[in-house]
Parts: sequence; C-alpha cells; structure tokens
Amino acid sequence: ELANRMAEKGADLVKALFNMDMMVTVNQTIDQDTAELLVEEFGHNIVRVSDSDVDIDTTEDVDSEETLQPRPPVVTIMGHVDHGKTSLLDALRGTDVVRGEAGGITQHIGAYQITTKDKHKITFLDTPGHEAFTQMRQRGANVTDIVILVVAADDGLMPQTIEAIKHTKAAGVPMIVAINKIDKPEAKPQKIRERLLEHEVVVEAMSGDVQDVEVSAKTGAGLDELIEKILLQAELLELKANPDRPADATVIEAQLDKGRGPVATVLVNRGTLKRGDVFVVGNESGRVRALVDDKGQQVKEAGPSMPVEVLGLGGVPNAGDHLTVVENEQRAREVATYRQQQATAKRTATAPANLDAMFAGLKSDVKEFPVVVKADVQGSAEAIVTALHNLSNDEIKVRVLNSGVGAITESDVTLASASKAPIIGFNVRPNAKARELIARHKVEMKYYDVIYQLTEEIAREMAGVLGPLR
Ligand code: GDP
Repeated sequence: ELANRMAEKGADLVKALFNMDMMVTVNQTIDQDTAELLVEEFGHNIVRVSDSDVDIDTTEDVDSEETLQPRPPVVTIMGHVDHGKTSLLDALRGTDVVRGEAGGITQHIGAYQITTKDKHKITFLDTPGHEAFTQMRQRGANVTDIVILVVAADDGLMPQTIEAIKHTKAAGVPMIVAINKIDKPEAKPQKIRERLLEHEVVVEAMSGDVQDVEVSAKTGAGLDELIEKILLQAELLELKANPDRPADATVIEAQLDKGRGPVATVLVNRGTLKRGDVFVVGNESGRVRALVDDKGQQVKEAGPSMPVEVLGLGGVPNAGDHLTVVENEQRAREVATYRQQQATAKRTATAPANLDAMFAGLKSDVKEFPVVVKADVQGSAEAIVTALHNLSNDEIKVRVLNSGVGAITESDVTLASASKAPIIGFNVRPNAKARELIARHKVEMKYYDVIYQLTEEIAREMAGVLGPLR
C-alpha cells in the first residue's frame, strides 16, 4: 500500500528495508517511524493522514434547512416484565392499515413501521426494554425519538418501571405513559398517576406535561388515542430529515443468516437507501443486494425512519453501528480497512471512559458531571446525593443519573457507561455480572466509606474538569 501511494515498486521497498536490516515481506505491516524513514529514503514528502482524511465524518456534513422533510417518529416501548410490552407491540402492529391490505407476513426484523388511518407513519423498535435502549445509546446510537412507558394498572410501579424512567430521563427522550390492562376489574389507573409523581413524572391529568393514556393491549381500548399522542409528540419534536441524499442509517440488529449470509436490520436516519448502493457499516463494507421490509416484501429503497433488512454485507456488523453510503467500492474498502486497523490498534490501547474524555465531548456552557450513586443504606444514599448537589456551581453541575441502595448491578453499569459517568459505591461493591461489564465498558469506579472523602475527591475532579486556567 505504501509502495502504491509513492508509485514505487513493492519489491524496491522490500529491498530498501532489507538494506536497513529489516526482513519484511511485501504485505507486512511496518511501524510509523520505519514508514517515514522509507518515504524519505525514496525522496517523497510525508503527509500524515488523520482520521478525518480517511474516515467518514457525517457530523460535519449537515443538511440545509430547505432540504429537510418531516420523518416518522421512532418509538421504543419500555416497562416492567409482564406489564404488556410485547402485547402492546403486537396490538399496535395490528392497527397498521397497510398490513391489512397487502396481507404481508409479519417478519420480526427488530423494528416495524405502521401506517395509521390518516396515513401517518410510526416506527416501533421491536425489542422492548431498557437494556436494548441503553446498549444502543452506549454505542452512540440515539435512534429513539419517543419512549412509551408501559405500566400495568393492576400492578403499579415496579423496579424495571423505575429503571426505565431513569434511563429515559438520562437520554433526554420524551415519554408517553401507557397505563395498560385497563380492562382488568382490579385496574387502578389513578394510583399509577399518583405513584409516578414520586419519580418526577407528572402526567397531564396531574397538571404536568407528560402525556398519559389508558390502554388495553388485550381489547384494543385506547390504542387510537395512544397513536394520536405519539403523533402529537412527534409534531412537537419537529422530526425532519433530508430524504434526497445518500443514506446514513443505524444498525438495529444483525446476524449471520444460513441462507442469506450477513443480514442487518437498519433504520435510515437520513437520505434514501437503494438497491445497488455501496456502503460502509462499522468495520465492514458492502453493496446493497436486496432490501426487505418488515412484511417480508422486497423493496427498492428505504427512506428516513424506515426499518429495512439489508443483504449484501461483507460481514456481520454490531447493533448501533452506523451505515454510510459512499461513492464507490474503493472508497468503501478504504474506510473499512482503516477502521479495522484502528480497531486493532485500539484493542491494544483502549482509553477508559474517564472524566476527561467525557467532558471533551460536552458542548454546553454549563458542564455536567454525571454520576451513579449506590450506597449500603438509604440514609447514606440521600446524604451523598445532597452533598454532591451542593458541589454544583455556575460552571458545572452534578447530575445524579441514579441513586439507590444495594450492590452495584448490571443496570447501574449500563446506565453509567451510556452517559460516560463514574459509579460511586459507598460501602457497596459490584456483583459478579456487573464486575464483568465494568471491565468490558471501562466504567470508572469509585469506592468510599467516608462521605467527606467522597465529596472532597469529587470536588477536585470537578475542578479538574474545568481546567487549570482558573
Ligand atoms: P411483557 O413482559 O411486558 O412483554 O408482557 P407481555 O406482553 O408478555 O404480557 C404479560 C401478560 O399480560 C400476558 O399474559 C398478556 O396476555 C397479559 N396482558 C398484556 N396486556 C394485557 C391487557 O391489556 N389486559 C389483560 N387483561 N392482560 C394483558
């Protein structure tokens, strides 16, 4: 590759290296210093290629206002186990007017789209629960526009309901509360609304701004109203994308299919993905051989917010990876190869999700210092949260993503990792599964048994974040 770039013969480079006492073959990787020496030896100029030269930076390329058109909202359903997430997803799928007409067979591809009676489209992620939601966020994929929090009216707020509220708030995504199982005689929807207040979710009926709706996934009651509220929320969000450009998409799920090879379900973020398009996705490149929708039908193209299965990938990407359409195969391969090299390099030297990295990414004037707090007793947890809030000032604010009592769990780790926050453990330790996740995601852990030591150290870190010029 180096020979190519210098328009020299590979054999000549090998010979030159041989003369420098380096026995290498023509396709061996050499380090940067050697490469530089070699380039000079051949009388060429050294141009260091930076990330931005080789890789694609889609954040730089912003679509102008006049190209933007409304796009359907992308909705994720969260809530406690058995509160009816799957039933609600099925019931909502059943309201699709297009599905009724075409008689397509339901394909579970990770997401589906419905068309409402008045021809609006809504996309639902088919994997309910906050784990999937948080894992996507960890990978930098914020695909969800609206969260539906399902609470069973006969059960009340349960641990996973509360987790879901925290995760949604941490992501800053608007929520609609669906009070489910309203058909049951023992349903007590008003009690749910009251209990939600304790978690700072104030629904409209309680003079707040969170929409709520009573539904039954079983009888279909309230579904129309739920759909209306989703559309209303979407309108408020002014969701828009440019459909007339090469596509950017996010991988929702991917697997190796026995018959079809690597298959990925993607959600188009902007542009239109077409058959024949050449793309890069994660560390893989490919060309769209076929696009299959959630009704099992082959389609020629997919526009913004449309979920579609892509065939024609070089390998299996990860959920959360971005797919970007590029001009040609050479470019696709160049980017994919570059990313593979970067990934290999990173594996040997991974930067932890530390505080510096976290704040480098923050843009607003007032910086935030997110933390997850776990303590052995309620009194300590409360005292720590109060003490941490007291450390906030005009320039930096502590943001407690979650505080609780008991061992540090997987859920704490995913929450912390998604927001690149440290976990503060006060007289508590992580359980085995959490430990594994901490290591995998390089989450920063801080253990204390004296509160003033905790506040002193956090105060120091916060000052450090603001920089030395103060
Ligand atoms: P998930 O774990 O949140 O996905 O919950 P499921 O959708 O699997 O539902 C759990 C149970 O509640 C199942 O037995 C459903 O049949 C039942 N269920 C779900 N929604 C309703 C509802 O609106 N009314 C009644 N009566 N039962 C429901």
